[in-house]
Amino acid sequence: MGQSLTCARSSDEHEFFSAVQAGDLETVASFLSTEPQMLRRTTVFDRLSTLHIAAANGQLEVLGMLLDRSLHPDLLNRHKQTPLMLAAMHGRISCVEKLLEAGATILMFDSLHGRSCLHYAAYYGHSDCLEAILSAANSTSVADSWGFSRFVNVSDNNGATPLHLAARQRRPECVHILLDKGALVCAPTGGYGCPGSSPLHLAARGGCLDSVRELLAWGADRLQRDSSGRIPYAIALKRNHGACAALLNPSTAEPLVWPSPLKFISELNNDAKILLENALMDANREREKNILKGTAYSLPSPTHSADSVDDDISEASDTELCCICFDQVCTIEVQDCGHQMCAHCTLSLCCHNKPNPTTLCLPAPACPFCRSNIARLVVAKNKTKEELDKTSHSFKLRRSRRSRNFGEGSSSFKDLSSAMGSFGKMSNRGSGRIADSSDNLDKP
Ligand SMILES: [Zn+2]
Ligand SMILES: [Zn+2]
Repeated sequence: MGQSLTCARSSDEHEFFSAVQAGDLETVASFLSTEPQMLRRTTVFDRLSTLHIAAANGQLEVLGMLLDRSLHPDLLNRHKQTPLMLAAMHGRISCVEKLLEAGATILMFDSLHGRSCLHYAAYYGHSDCLEAILSAANSTSVADSWGFSRFVNVSDNNGATPLHLAARQRRPECVHILLDKGALVCAPTGGYGCPGSSPLHLAARGGCLDSVRELLAWGADRLQRDSSGRIPYAIALKRNHGACAALLNPSTAEPLVWPSPLKFISELNNDAKILLENALMDANREREKNILKGTAYSLPSPTHSADSVDDDISEASDTELCCICFDQVCTIEVQDCGHQMCAHCTLSLCCHNKPNPTTLCLPAPACPFCRSNIARLVVAKNKTKEELDKTSHSFKLRRSRRSRNFGEGSSSFKDLSSAMGSFGKMSNRGSGRIADSSDNLDKP
């Protein structure tokens, strides 16, 4: 890395750089008043500017002082790294924010691997820095000139996007954020490590179960091959990552996949999104339990006492039950029609394992009650947040008791299909009755 200050030209310079590194504001200020030329000095070997040193060491006050003295935020060191890259590398979030405020350019690439500040944040797993950079990318000229999604998916010299690096370095939180912001889940590297690897190959290689789980939930392809013809499963096996291998084994049940391409999903409000995401991860964890059952790899599962289960169940009144599964409480409302169902049934309705291979497009789901288009999904509004917390808590407990219904991610889909089948029969008998009596269906 080379933030070594040992190769300063003089003892004065060494003292000055040391003060910057240590955040000694007084000494830095007195140097700058007596020897203003010090401001633009760099270390001899790595050519680190004072901004680089302050940013890498998280010295926010010194950094602010240097920027106030009109040092340009995009100074380059020997490896063409910017102060922003070093701050992102070392997880110095306040310095990242300060540099972005000062107009630091996010679209710069170092000369080592051709990496951006986003690569640095992803590689070193600093999710706060990653989010700050992404939000800057969304609001600056980068979004207009380059396109936000192009920035999220920018490759380094080896073809690795920030998502590849996060998956490879076992950074599941960064994997999640990047996917959420439109990182391409199946992009091949064409060079990094094993050439032509997908993020799933690299997560399998790193042995990170959480990253594997995230990538699968976003539709990563278990059958994608790298340039040596290997699928991720083979890589996990070779590296002895047994639990990862079990989930990557193409012969096990496919996980539920987050339906990101659907328009209304990207426009979900945050509360509804968190509810659905949790439901999806829960369903996939149940599936994992089945897959890992009887293998040496068991997952930690929360334990609940039988008493609390009974208490919580009595809290959920029958009038709130989802009319599709009759098992869980309605938490999601379809708009504009206003029909309600539980998060699991909503997911079963919207999730796909893969797009239709012949058309490569996803049919937009319709409301299972009235067949009208789903414009939006929102958290059912007849509950306060407190009540929702309570019900989602009791969900888990109910589910853990009735886990046979959720043994496989696809079983709730079967529930839904059969329920929809019976709705279809009903509406054949009395045409339009379902839609007309929607209020009764909501609350039996
Ligand atoms: Zn339901
Ligand atoms: Zn409806």
